Amino acid sequence: MTISLHDTLSGDTRPLEPLEAGHVRIYSCGPTVYGPSHIGNFRSFLFADVLVRYLRYRGLRVTWVMNITDIDDKIIKGAAASGEAIGVLAERYTTHFLADAAALRMTVPDTLPRATGHIEEIVELVKTLLENGNAYRTDDGSIFFRIASWPAYGRLARLDLENLRVGERVESDEYGKDDVRDFALWKGPKPGEPSWPTEIGPGRPGWHIECSAMSMKHLGRSFDIHTGGIDLIFPHHEDEIAQSEAATGVPFVRTWLHCAHLQSSGAKMAKSVGNIARVGDLLERGISPRALRYALISVHYRMAIQYSDDSLGAAAAAVDRLDAALAALRVYRNDGPDDPSLPAVLDQARADFEAAMDDDLNVSPALGALFDFVRDLNRRIDARTLSTADAERALRVIGDLDSVLGVTAEVADLDPVASGLLADRAAARASRDWAASDRLRDELAARGILVEDTRDGQRWRRVEVAAGG
Ligand SMILES: [Zn+2]
Repeated sequence: MTISLHDTLSGDTRPLEPLEAGHVRIYSCGPTVYGPSHIGNFRSFLFADVLVRYLRYRGLRVTWVMNITDIDDKIIKGAAASGEAIGVLAERYTTHFLADAAALRMTVPDTLPRATGHIEEIVELVKTLLENGNAYRTDDGSIFFRIASWPAYGRLARLDLENLRVGERVESDEYGKDDVRDFALWKGPKPGEPSWPTEIGPGRPGWHIECSAMSMKHLGRSFDIHTGGIDLIFPHHEDEIAQSEAATGVPFVRTWLHCAHLQSSGAKMAKSVGNIARVGDLLERGISPRALRYALISVHYRMAIQYSDDSLGAAAAAVDRLDAALAALRVYRNDGPDDPSLPAVLDQARADFEAAMDDDLNVSPALGALFDFVRDLNRRIDARTLSTADAERALRVIGDLDSVLGVTAEVADLDPVASGLLADRAAARASRDWAASDRLRDELAARGILVEDTRDGQRWRRVEVAAGG
């Protein structure tokens, strides 16, 4: 098995070789919680979700960290406007984000660290950069990263550093920098802004530093994959690389993955453009969350999504086709013999799906393979060539492939944790780890999910847990 991914830094599509064999460590830039996320934001989060799901489907262990930016200029402005405490506003929109993520069936990341919970790590990192001569203080108590001290700056975004000076807007609060290109690691205290008393003086973190501090705390100084939207390449990820590597002296990230924008009415979806669609509003309008998820994941991550009512309609139709095939297979009964040509069809469906996803998560041919398979199954159902056991085998293959996509009705009945436990248990049984298999069965039972082992693998059903029990 070789999974190849397109790394933004090198510009190459390369085989994924985790630093620790069998274990992939992934960091994704998450939401800034100053308002409800829009579907353009979720395109990026769900791209990372599909990546995580696919690596797990492939039997790899994944540790997935997604940060929550709960302190930044926009949050401070929003809280001032609504007369709330910053923490109250940030907490409300964190809850909002998690609800949207659950509705869209995003896998829950293993860790969702908050910037305000990592001030100590941020201060440590800034201290190191000051000691190494990569950072300097200004009169207002701010600390900036000195880009001139880091010759590799600009590699990710392929910047021409000389031209970067031209037209650069100098923020009023950032006068005093040695060079307009330098960026804030730490912002000195200001009236009306939150401030932490720390070893490097009072103030609050700049935006970029939080992602370096939190990713390295939870994944180590070097880790496998960092994801985000292409708008984060510069300056956010460029700055992350500079400050992380200047502090540690080791490569920060092995593979940088960036997903393209979601466009609506011909422009990138952004609050500033005024063309945003929020998840909550769409669901209130009666849009199916599964159709919305499908619309957001069914285009290759490096291609822009043209989002419209039409694309949403096409997504809903695709999800319906899968649901209909699953429903037909679930009720199918035929005591006749097995269909002798089915095993090859099942193997081919899996192989084609995997070959496409292995190729830089090339989702379009992967979906093509799935729908060809479904069409073939529908013909066999109509012709009644399948046995009851064949129908169950076909259901299992669709279920496995959908564990990557997360769009069919069956998965809707399972929360992501339970889906993960089932996947873990299937993997445990495949490797004959019976103790782990039994433990996972008990964990699932505690969640009201009974697992039975059949000749063809595990089958689950939900049991109602008595009220009050
Ligand atoms: Zn980030």
